Amino acid sequence: MRRHLRRFRQRLDQALPSALPEGFPLRYLLASLLLVALLPALLGEVPAQPWRDPQLSPDERARLLEAKLTPDERIALLHGPMGTAFAGKPKPPGALGSAGYIPGIARLGIPALQETDASLGIANPADARPGDGATALPASLALAASFNPRLAFDSGAMIGREARAKGFNVLLAGGVNLARDPRNGRNFEYLGEDALLAGTLAGESIRGIQSERVISTVKHFSLNAQESRRESVDARIDEAAHRESDLLAFQFAIERGRPGAVMCGYNLVNGAHACGNDHLLNRVLKRDWGYRGWVMSDWGAVHSVDDATHGLDQESGEQLDAEVFFGAPLKAAVESGRVTRERVGDMARRVLRSMFAVGLFDGASTGAAPAGAIDRAAHARIARNVAAEGIVLLANRAGLLPLGAERKRIAVIGAHADVGVISGGGSSQVLPWGGPAAVVPVGQGDSWMQAWSRIVYHPSSPFRALRERLPGASVVFDNGRYPAQAAALARTADVAVVFVEQWMIEAIDAPDLSLPDGQDALVEAVAAANPNTVVVLETGGPIALPWRDRVGAIVAAWYAGAEGGAAIADVLTGAVNPSGRLPVSFPDGLAQTPRGPLPPPDAPAGARFTVDYSEGADVGYRRHAALGTRPLFAFGHGLSYTRFGYDGPRAEGGDRLAVSVEVSNLGTRAGSEVVQVYALDAGGRRGRRLVGFDKVALAPGERRRVRIEVDPRLLARFDVARGDWLLPGGELGIAVGRDALTDILTTRVRLDERRLPAGEGVAAR
Ligand code: BGC
Repeated sequence: MRRHLRRFRQRLDQALPSALPEGFPLRYLLASLLLVALLPALLGEVPAQPWRDPQLSPDERARLLEAKLTPDERIALLHGPMGTAFAGKPKPPGALGSAGYIPGIARLGIPALQETDASLGIANPADARPGDGATALPASLALAASFNPRLAFDSGAMIGREARAKGFNVLLAGGVNLARDPRNGRNFEYLGEDALLAGTLAGESIRGIQSERVISTVKHFSLNAQESRRESVDARIDEAAHRESDLLAFQFAIERGRPGAVMCGYNLVNGAHACGNDHLLNRVLKRDWGYRGWVMSDWGAVHSVDDATHGLDQESGEQLDAEVFFGAPLKAAVESGRVTRERVGDMARRVLRSMFAVGLFDGASTGAAPAGAIDRAAHARIARNVAAEGIVLLANRAGLLPLGAERKRIAVIGAHADVGVISGGGSSQVLPWGGPAAVVPVGQGDSWMQAWSRIVYHPSSPFRALRERLPGASVVFDNGRYPAQAAALARTADVAVVFVEQWMIEAIDAPDLSLPDGQDALVEAVAAANPNTVVVLETGGPIALPWRDRVGAIVAAWYAGAEGGAAIADVLTGAVNPSGRLPVSFPDGLAQTPRGPLPPPDAPAGARFTVDYSEGADVGYRRHAALGTRPLFAFGHGLSYTRFGYDGPRAEGGDRLAVSVEVSNLGTRAGSEVVQVYALDAGGRRGRRLVGFDKVALAPGERRRVRIEVDPRLLARFDVARGDWLLPGGELGIAVGRDALTDILTTRVRLDERRLPAGEGVAAR
């Protein structure tokens, strides 16, 4: 014991600063005081790492932590590989098997970024995590059709919870590109053609995801509006038009959702690649909007180390780029002064700032949760609500729907409705719990690509659900392969329900608006055999409906997700009163859309070509309004099993616009109405645009006054020369619409002239 004490005194003597007074006991007293002061830090009671203090702002925490990084650590935060085995290379150590991985820095307690796709649920690319299923949401278009921000939040929070339970802390979600072309292979991952609707719902979904301490992206910034040759298409657009359309959708989404990261797209915008686009990233996003999160590249969208100077903060999926630009080349560029040290510090701070802002350092946000942590039943209910509220009843002649007990024989035809519902392909593909109901290989390229591109059916059969809901009827299935045989069955039935499908996948656009595999002929044959034909569309967006006058009812169910069959049956039988409204117009043929033929699949890869977005901000219904053309079904259209009445419109003008109207349920069934307010000739321009909406549930006979406040940017023009918004004063027409092109009530209001800063409200808190 004495020996130990002696040794301790000797060590202390060596260790104590010579500035401390000599002699016992003062010298040891002071040393003990020092020890006591340090004890909590040694025991972890006081943060030895000051950035761990949640009382500090995310900016301050990021600043403190970034200052501690070595140059190599700084660079390491700015690039990373795919988080899965790919192209003959094994899965990177530490990665979970997903789209992306940025290794952490254990020395400083920085967690790895485990990044997973996407907006529709937790993807499992090419079965990288064997058999790992998840709850599949319906297509984002279905969410958009719900016009229900609350559902966007709830479904976002749901996938956020599943991400966290599986050990992911970044969700590559928030797809908000406007549907400028109905052939776009990814329209189903986005939220339609209107900036207010898309931006609001994307923002709520992101807010939901991040409420679970999982970072969400918003993507693909910007104008990634077609998949054909997406990496070499130069999207040309007028600056003001861009700010008033796609950029405005991003702006709304960022304001509401405050996503930790923005993912830039593959395409070029006005001559520069989106991920190296100084104007888009530095000027619009970071300067005008004051965005403080980080910009991550899309996978394979980085072209130069100079992209760093042009505003890109992080290179993702680095195997897909020509070289790992943000690895050794970025380090060398910093050493040579080509990229400044300050800029690289800023890049790292942005990544860390979002990690702090979303809570990745506070609480157990990394590491897989214990098995069983996912409440699958509760999550299935959320997927079902989105599907049910997103189904749009497009046409319903003579009250053919809902199917009542008087229907004794029902023929269900086509689209594998006996086993499930189709889903969209590509990076957003979710593997359902328990595996798909069916898989159809489409097969192209190597085995990874083959595993990626296969048609997956979610195991929720509309046929079986109809059987359950109509116990008194004989419900029979025909696969629809032979139209004559399907027609023969339809002839013997009271009602024929034909399911038609269009599989869409990232990287490929549809060549036109037709249904594949002869399904139009199937519908024609069935409709000719039985006028009581209901057609259910399971499509990735608008299609041509050449048989529309010969069928009794048309239902747009999009890709209906994990509970799709149940939701479709609920709507067909009236257990759910349809309340979805179109988030995209159905054009009457391609001639009504702004663009000609897409590049053929065998067009030379890499050769740049331009696409003129000459419609500017007049996307979808706004173009129809400006040109006076009539689509098959306009944005906002959707029928109900009840009727709604409107009266008493009031508009409050001056320095802000608010519109209110009395809405009542005139029918005998409960139902939800989407109140849609349009400005006529807003910004001094001919046409109309959605300036507000609200979804209200009304019991039979119930009335309610709905008041909607209008964001002034929706009434303004972007003034490029001054770099701000101009809201021209004067009189403005307001319509409450049945859809974007059909007015129910109109009124007028006077507004004061106003100017608003470009980044009104965006700066991330
Ligand atoms: C897609 C992104 C996706 C990424 C990672 C890309 O092909 O465009 O939306 O997040 O892959 O899978």
